[in-house]
Amino acid sequence: MYLQIMCSCCGHRSRKFKYDRFSRTEPAEEIVNAGWDSFGDAFYCPKCVKTWEKRNGKNRPLWGKQHTRERVYQVMVNDLLREIEYLQKGEYDL
Ligand SMILES: [Zn+2]
Repeated sequence: MYLQIMCSCCGHRSRKFKYDRFSRTEPAEEIVNAGWDSFGDAFYCPKCVKTWEKRNGKNRPLWGKQHTRERVYQVMVNDLLREIEYLQKGEYDL
């Protein structure tokens, strides 16, 4: 499976992270270190993070690294659950 997030402002996409249920890689760390941030469910790319305050004012800060990590994990977990559902239907030849 691949994880790729998209910026809710400009549509820019992160690189594709290959992972599966045995994967030890942590896309969340790399995404956060690259400067992505989030607001609620939405992700914002490093470029749009820099202009966030100009566009949204000082009173609506982005939600920060920990929330962004959790959002990335959420996306991965949802994908894994979808895969499990798919496997349970027996449509996948192991
Ligand atoms: Zn952007």
